[in-house]
Amino acid sequence: MSGESITVIGGGLAGTEAAWQIARAGIPVTLYEMRPVTQTPAHHSGDLAELVCSNSFGAESLDRASGLLHEELRRLGSIVIQVADKNRVPAGGALAVDRVMFSKELTETIASHPLITLKREEVKTIPSNGVVVLATGPLTANTLARELQKFTGMEYLNFFDAASPIILGESINKDIAFLASRYGRGEAAYLNCPMDREQYLLFWRELCNAQQAELKDFERENATFFEACLPIEELARRGEDTMRFGPLKPVGLVDPRFPHKKYYAVVQLRPEDKEGQLWNMVGFQTNLRWGEQKRVFRLIPGLENAEFVRFGVMHKNIFLNAPKLLLPTLQFKRRHTLFACGQLVGTEGYTAAVAGGWLAGTNAARIMRSLPPLVFPKTTMLGALIDYITTADSRHFQPMPPNFGILPPLDTKIRSKPQRYRAYAHRALSHLEDFISAHGLPLTPPSRVAINP
Ligand SMILES: Cc1cc2nc3c(=O)[nH]c(=O)nc-3n(C[C@H](O)[C@H](O)[C@H](O)COP(=O)(O)OP(=O)(O)OC[C@H]3O[C@@H](n4cnc5c(N)ncnc54)[C@H](O)[C@@H]3O)c2cc1C
Repeated sequence: MSGESITVIGGGLAGTEAAWQIARAGIPVTLYEMRPVTQTPAHHSGDLAELVCSNSFGAESLDRASGLLHEELRRLGSIVIQVADKNRVPAGGALAVDRVMFSKELTETIASHPLITLKREEVKTIPSNGVVVLATGPLTANTLARELQKFTGMEYLNFFDAASPIILGESINKDIAFLASRYGRGEAAYLNCPMDREQYLLFWRELCNAQQAELKDFERENATFFEACLPIEELARRGEDTMRFGPLKPVGLVDPRFPHKKYYAVVQLRPEDKEGQLWNMVGFQTNLRWGEQKRVFRLIPGLENAEFVRFGVMHKNIFLNAPKLLLPTLQFKRRHTLFACGQLVGTEGYTAAVAGGWLAGTNAARIMRSLPPLVFPKTTMLGALIDYITTADSRHFQPMPPNFGILPPLDTKIRSKPQRYRAYAHRALSHLEDFISAHGLPLTPPSRVAINP
């Protein structure tokens, strides 16, 4: 698995993109995909880049985070987005594809590339030599997952995603929510949404009766995880006051506007980023359907217009603690010849996996060519996403989809949201163009130097 070629493990969206970018740079690559010999619990075919659930890569317009990332990837020469564009089906404003045609075409493209060797084999250990890209996704086979756990340290590989929703800061009503830390400890880091008795009881009743998402069979097997990390709706069902004595307890939280006021319950939001653009609902890991999360959590005072960047989820999802383990080049801190990408590093969603695959593949090829690996500008969606996953607070790290809340704020304030998002996209694409020209992207084989006779 070593020598002059690069090894990519996992032929999903990330691994397929990575392998293609390496081959395109003129470097031989061996791509290992265990399907169809060994299946995952969610895939159905033996094709590369199979879309496990929806056939949509998300909204297309540039004022949507997914649309901006599609466009960045087009400009970077992504093979996956190119084939998606070719196999698109009508889907309103979204980039949706004929999933069978899409995966078949990518499989043929990869398998027929002269520099790519496709091996249908489960990889059980992390190759110790050579340049390696890990792209085995949220359902990484168990033996390799255990090896990864040994390599990274037990606590740095998660097997289950029990995440709370994340809300866009600007959509929180700051006339109601107040900044304070419990017992005034440290700086006032939390946003607190206070409730009186009536508001709490309404919320509690709706939460108890809200519809849950179905667990898949392989997730039900892991349902014991829930006891350690109870969904908020389960806590609610244990009794009227259980949440008030748990994550919603009001004690020690003083509202600086009304220092003597006693609230009945308080929902706390913890900042997800340094700029305070994203807020995580503390203790709100949930298995409710997304529509129900929106309906019920908007009953919380201050969150009546909350925009959810990510809904809460509880499902099997193997992912690394990227802030602890990875550099913004997607290299492991402790072994620079080892890269990881895709859902395995805690980016969420199809397009994000392609983006990570592009970066890991390109950087793997660059180090083979003795070029410095790339760190993308944070003003691009790709750069912001990789920056987020490699610099977030490692104690609470959970996967993150592309969204505008992770981009650095604009120099000037724009009130209208669509205009602001278009301004973000304009800045991102202009910085990307500069970056592409500065680094000659995508990487192609070195041109032969003409030697004068
Ligand atoms: C049930 C489920 C539904 C989802 N639905 C959506 C959705 O609708 N929309 C969305 O945007 N995202 C969805 N996701 C998230 C989705 O997994 C990612 O967006 C995307 O597929 C991640 O791409 P990836 O390349 O990282 O992983 P994958 O696409 O899963 O690719 C990883 C590949 O590695 C292979 N592999 C694993 N271990 C080994 C090994 N040891 N040796 C060799 N090969 C190996 C697997 O067979 C697989 O082909 C879903 C995830 C799950 C689990």
